[in-house]
Amino acid sequence: MLLSHFLKIRRKVYLDNNATTSVLLSVARRMNHVLRKHYGNPSSLSHDAIKSSVIIDDSRAVIAETVNADRSEIFFTGSASEANNAVIKSLAEHSFPAKKKILSTPIEHASVMSSLAYLEQKGFSIEYIPVDSKGRVLIESFQQMIDEATFLVCCMLANNEIGVIQDIKQITEIAHSKQVPVFSDCVQALGKIPVDLKELNVDYASFSAHKIHGPKGVGAMYVNSGSFISSFIHGGHQENGLRAGTESIHNIAGFAEACKNVKKNLKLSVKTKLIKDFFINELIRIKPDIILNSVLDENCLPNTVNVVFTGVNNAALMAALDYFGIAVSAGSACNTQSNDASHVLKAIGLTDQQTRESIRFSLPADISKSQIKYVLSILEQAVSEKLPSIGMLEPKQLNEELINHPDTLIVDVRFWHDRLIVKGIPNSREINFFAFKKYFKHFPLDKNIILVCQGGFFAPIIGYAMKQHGYKNVQFLMLGIIGWQKANPELYNKIAGKNIIKL
Ligand code: PLP
Repeated sequence: MLLSHFLKIRRKVYLDNNATTSVLLSVARRMNHVLRKHYGNPSSLSHDAIKSSVIIDDSRAVIAETVNADRSEIFFTGSASEANNAVIKSLAEHSFPAKKKILSTPIEHASVMSSLAYLEQKGFSIEYIPVDSKGRVLIESFQQMIDEATFLVCCMLANNEIGVIQDIKQITEIAHSKQVPVFSDCVQALGKIPVDLKELNVDYASFSAHKIHGPKGVGAMYVNSGSFISSFIHGGHQENGLRAGTESIHNIAGFAEACKNVKKNLKLSVKTKLIKDFFINELIRIKPDIILNSVLDENCLPNTVNVVFTGVNNAALMAALDYFGIAVSAGSACNTQSNDASHVLKAIGLTDQQTRESIRFSLPADISKSQIKYVLSILEQAVSEKLPSIGMLEPKQLNEELINHPDTLIVDVRFWHDRLIVKGIPNSREINFFAFKKYFKHFPLDKNIILVCQGGFFAPIIGYAMKQHGYKNVQFLMLGIIGWQKANPELYNKIAGKNIIKL
């Protein structure tokens, strides 16, 4: 049974499109062309330099047109995270000390949440508008919370983890009636639902190229003409003096090229939604006790569904799916190196346990039914425990006796930077995650292998590979070393970091 599973030819189904998307061939070609032919510095005065400036300006126009803005309102950044930081911090500086309050939702992207936490430390007052069990902002609460002290409202158009779409038009109407500007992170919405900034009437917005089949490392910030924004990288005059630094012309051109695909993807979204509905219905048939964290109606991105697989650890399930060529996420991609429960899932009322049983499926616009049927077939086997499984060790179970047992072999697969933050489990062998196969020769087949990583998400991936190699007793430490440290603080202080062997 086990062998037949491992001998199966693996397909690839990428259902992690909210984390990032594949780069379109047309985008790669355009970028390649710009990289090789148009290397002139746009700040210079040669013929080549002017051509580079033209490429940037044309790209700005394409992006502006895609979101119904004027080209003078679009500024390129290195990412949407940068744009989010820039808008929030710039307005905070401008408003201080007259006004100190920002209203936000509790389900914003990490780049917004962390910027707000930073400002809170500096003396700003950050208040979170409550959301319901599907992440929808409670408008009545918002109306009560907005006041004279408020200088900004932050509300994303669509959420990356659960896909909920907010009624930004209504939020803007209320905020503007109190003369408060609205900033909306539109990163996940672009390419999945229509984004018309003039209709939404927001004052600030952010976008990211790599979520729409463009390159990584380029984003855009929208600032409605007449709205305040200050320089956030000081230096040269680039981006109208807001963001100094020689422009990444090939990335900007790639972003514009990707925008040309947005209309096509929007047309496809009707079909994407039908396939997603089929997927959800089949999931309910396979496992009737699943809980949907996403809304089922049109207030959800057509490609996104987030599900609690009751009683199933998401790290183990993700590793099993990954083994069969299926990429999904548990929460947002930014959180996979810690074991903190997703703030989004917590905000909609899930317990810690349920957040650890939740998986996000984010479909590509051109998903096919046969791909989804393949995913369902693997999921069905996984939830009915028909797949080869790896053992799971609770943090409390990894006690001194087990650590020191002669049959135990602890393998630490963490990244080097994680090892600087938390000390390792005693007697462990440290290996390089990215080259894990080359270490197998060091591990006897009959040992009880315990794989440990920082947050509990990476170790099971290696567990599956070891099973394939013939290791029978393979376990991984749930919640990782961070979880072990939290569950056993005394033991951690007493023995962590001792007798660690670097292979
Ligand atoms: N905002 C949202 C809603 C996102 O999903 C992401 C990416 O995960 C970002 C912002 C950050 O985008 P970038 O990777 O360009 O910094």
